[in-house]
Amino acid sequence: MTGDRGPGKVHLVGTGPGAPDLLTVRAARLLREGDVALYDNLVSQEILALLPEATRKVYVGKRRSRHALPQEDINRLMIDLAREGARVLRLKGGDPFVFGRGGEEAEALAAAGIAFEVVPGITAAVGVAASACIPLTHRALAQSCTFVTGNLQDGTMNLDWPLLARTRQTIAVYMGLKGLPVLCAKLIEYGRSPETPAAIVQQGTTPQERTVVGSLATLPAMAEAAGLRAPTLILIGEVVALRDVLAPGASGHATAAS
Ligand code: SAH
Repeated sequence: MTGDRGPGKVHLVGTGPGAPDLLTVRAARLLREGDVALYDNLVSQEILALLPEATRKVYVGKRRSRHALPQEDINRLMIDLAREGARVLRLKGGDPFVFGRGGEEAEALAAAGIAFEVVPGITAAVGVAASACIPLTHRALAQSCTFVTGNLQDGTMNLDWPLLARTRQTIAVYMGLKGLPVLCAKLIEYGRSPETPAAIVQQGTTPQERTVVGSLATLPAMAEAAGLRAPTLILIGEVVALRDVLAPGASGHATAAS
């Protein structure tokens, strides 16, 4: 394909939470330079539109979809294309190394002896926090912020509940919509106050952003009533209450209904 340009290379590119102007300058440059782009559901249309017409675009889907390629096939495709000499862009929503399987893909490339580079992106928790005016840490309210995935396995959520129930920390939950009722119930069961402020943000940083704000006790029912759909990011902790101060009028109770 591009053998005259020497051996190929794979860039694992984080494309951020959705807004095209939240791409890094490096990612934006690389988008113009690839021969082939492998992308999945989280990469927004606006960002795909930045790819030149000549760039081959391959949808590799998300894992459970019928049309998706299994992870091993994605790895194989990246390796084969790079061996043919292509400059391969593996586009990933947010940051490649945060719940994005970038680690697994990098392992496969390293094992195959393929040159690769990881380009960081703004991860969903960081993008959503800024967009929803919810600081992730705060000297008075949260000394730490923990990123967890709420992916349910066999109907249970296997998280370190005693750790997560501690106060003075923020929890950012990826892939947590389905498990939201279990998540909130477990945190309350392990001692976090039911009044702890909590927010869920759908498609943060995009024009479709929707935010619902409540508490551990109220958020599951509110999210269901609002009919939220993935991708959503859940933020839990006292910092969520700062939204009322930092973005008065954008309470989330109102935007959820609109
Ligand atoms: N690598 C990505 C995460 C991939 S896992 C990153 O760093 O952001 C996919 C999950 O990310 C989604 O289920 C959702 O929980 C979250 N997510 C990604 N983009 C989002 C967005 N714009 N708004 C809200 N949540 C988002």
